Amino acid sequence: MALIVQKYGGTSVANPERIKALASRVARYKALGHQVVVVVSAMSGETNRLIALARELMPDPDPRELDVVVSTGEQVTIGLTAMALMDLGIKAKSYTGSQVRIVTNSAFTKARILHIDDAKIRADLNSGHVVVVAGFQGVDEHGNITTLGRGGSDTTGVALAAALKADECQIYTDVDGVYTTDPRIVPEARRLKSITFEEMLELASQGSKVLQIRSVEFAGKYQVKLRVLSSFEEEGDGTLITFEEEDNMEQPIISGIAFNRDEAKVTVLGVPDRPGIAYQILGPIADANIDVDIIIQNTGADGTTDFTFTVHKNELNKALDILRNIQAHIGAREIAGDDKIAKVSIVGVGMRSHVGVASQMFRTLAEEGINIQMISTSEIKIAVVIEEKYMELAVRVLHKAFELEEA
Ligand code: ADP
Ligand code: ASP
Ligand code: MG
Repeated sequence: MALIVQKYGGTSVANPERIKALASRVARYKALGHQVVVVVSAMSGETNRLIALARELMPDPDPRELDVVVSTGEQVTIGLTAMALMDLGIKAKSYTGSQVRIVTNSAFTKARILHIDDAKIRADLNSGHVVVVAGFQGVDEHGNITTLGRGGSDTTGVALAAALKADECQIYTDVDGVYTTDPRIVPEARRLKSITFEEMLELASQGSKVLQIRSVEFAGKYQVKLRVLSSFEEEGDGTLITFEEEDNMEQPIISGIAFNRDEAKVTVLGVPDRPGIAYQILGPIADANIDVDIIIQNTGADGTTDFTFTVHKNELNKALDILRNIQAHIGAREIAGDDKIAKVSIVGVGMRSHVGVASQMFRTLAEEGINIQMISTSEIKIAVVIEEKYMELAVRVLHKAFELEEA
């Protein structure tokens, strides 16, 4: 007997038929004697609908109230899922995040899980129930409803698997595993049988939304056995996230390509080049809780420097306002924003033992006339910022150049 956490995304609970299919799968696992915890997302499109509704009443919605609204999508699907299971004669019980007590910090819309109280879930599992938990949501220590950021149900699933020391966490979605890149952009993309945790972490952090990054972080920290599978197919091994690199001579240099249109670029032009300037610019940005991704600084011959960094598109205006307020103080000539950018990243542990990967990437982009605006690297990743309109082309040509469609 194993304890399995199964997380189902929006398309996997999109309508009563899909929820019935979910219930049948759970029934098969129960029949094999396993204990099952199910984590569900809202029906696909529902979270977007709720956000749009909130914006009609308040263009920049209050984060606490926004979480009250958007968390309702998952409350609907937990109840429906429990009913579908009961209808098959399976004992089932649903819980919201706050009922479980998935305790988070108070960073509304992007809260972090601090602690999970597993007492109720364990008691229910021991009495033969399937426990259905709402993904994406928690409660802070003051009792406020919080949400974990878009795609956060993945994190609920993996965090629960960690808390319960589950034997496996299965992420059911609308693709049958992790691909070399998003198959919606590159039809030739290939499913990976396994991918290392480190590579998955980079892909997720670079925007591959098949798994939310925090879920991968949890899997790494607690060594959760994590698998991505299709809820539309009965068979299939999906993709296993592994913790050891295979000692494989055939290891490709690049395992996957991620892309992200969610970032915007902020440029502070012509600031005097003196110690402390980076802190003066980024300090107020950090104080406003705005995450910064890539940062570059170029000093000109005239002793002034241009400072460029990227933030989430949603936070571009806030970042620009902050900088315009301190523009005179830091002596900047101009502050500019650009939200027509995209980031494309190639990821692979094979990069560690190969030279020339960056030059191959840059040559491939140059041959298509794609200008690189910013570059950022890690041991197993090279990311470039380019004009948004070239993003899909860049992903396609890189996928081909690194021969990712071939097994
Ligand atoms: P869910 O609602 O089940 O959480 P998501 O839409 O969040 O599903 O994530 C699944 C989607 O992620 C796929 O439909 C696919 O378009 C996209 N995706 C992006 N990159 C990849 C990748 N490397 N492999 C597989 N899917 C990817
Ligand atoms: N329903 C939430 C979202 O759309 C959480 C999730 O699907 O993981 O972002
Ligand atoms: Mg998702």
